[in-house]
Amino acid sequence: MVDAPTMPELPDIEAYLHVLRRDLVGREVNGVRLKSPFLVRTIAPPLKSIEGHAVSGVRRIGKRVVLEFGGFVPERFVVIHLMKAGRLKWRKPGAGLPGKMGLCAFDFEHGTVIFTEAGRKRRASIHVVEGEEALAHLDPGGVEVEDLDADGFHELVSSHRHTMKRTLTDPHILSGIGSAYADEILLRAGLSPMKRASQLDRDESGRLRDACLSVLGEWTKRIQTETGAGWPEVTAFRPAMAAHGKAGEPCPQCGSPIQKIVYAETETNYCATCQTGGTVLKDRSLSRLLKEDWPRDLDAWQERLGRGSGGA
Ligand SMILES: [Zn+2]
Repeated sequence: MVDAPTMPELPDIEAYLHVLRRDLVGREVNGVRLKSPFLVRTIAPPLKSIEGHAVSGVRRIGKRVVLEFGGFVPERFVVIHLMKAGRLKWRKPGAGLPGKMGLCAFDFEHGTVIFTEAGRKRRASIHVVEGEEALAHLDPGGVEVEDLDADGFHELVSSHRHTMKRTLTDPHILSGIGSAYADEILLRAGLSPMKRASQLDRDESGRLRDACLSVLGEWTKRIQTETGAGWPEVTAFRPAMAAHGKAGEPCPQCGSPIQKIVYAETETNYCATCQTGGTVLKDRSLSRLLKEDWPRDLDAWQERLGRGSGGA
């Protein structure tokens, strides 16, 4: 298992949206405490401008959390990108920023949202933008699976030559799916993570779409239930997962040991019996394929989106 924080994916972000909506909408921001100005990647309007204004809504674009401030004309948005190690925590009013990890605090009368980032790399970010058009520029353009019918899904996915793992996790193609849920989805669909997306037939893309919807739906529900009245904990490892982080453990579908491939800071887990016709993918023979297909640094790949370059 790769000892690194798991990037929050759609079910985790949905859990954050749920608590942000529940605890912040209609509440006024009393203050913003920013530890480093580099966290905010936009110049104007300033983040401090939201002080004295109420959060009017919460939404998601891709894996980003958006706080809406409808009291401004045009509407103002605070876009929070957690990247891999960023987290949001709810603390008592006026709570201090933790020394190493604290990035920023949003103070409300009834509590404080603390934005943290573990590790030494500073990749989490905030953008403050005005109007829907400016917000749309921050959208990497990946489509929500639930917005696609079977034909649309097949057309989109099979138009890419990348491997299945890359295609599912590319935020320009599909929205909200990262490494962990991609492993879960591919196991359920019975598809090799290394299969070329362009080689999917209709039956396979249908299974893949069903697996995306069921895996993401089940995990969204599960995390929301676990969260209850508190705030979500996005952990590096979820014991209830079938494949991701489970190398060497029995596949819950067939009992064969779960395999792993590690490349460019990313671990891929799969079941040879359920997904590759019994073939164990060899690290060495994979490396050439992965080199041309996989971004060397997943964080940088994700981060590039925040700089306005929409291209893949
Ligand atoms: Zn299996």
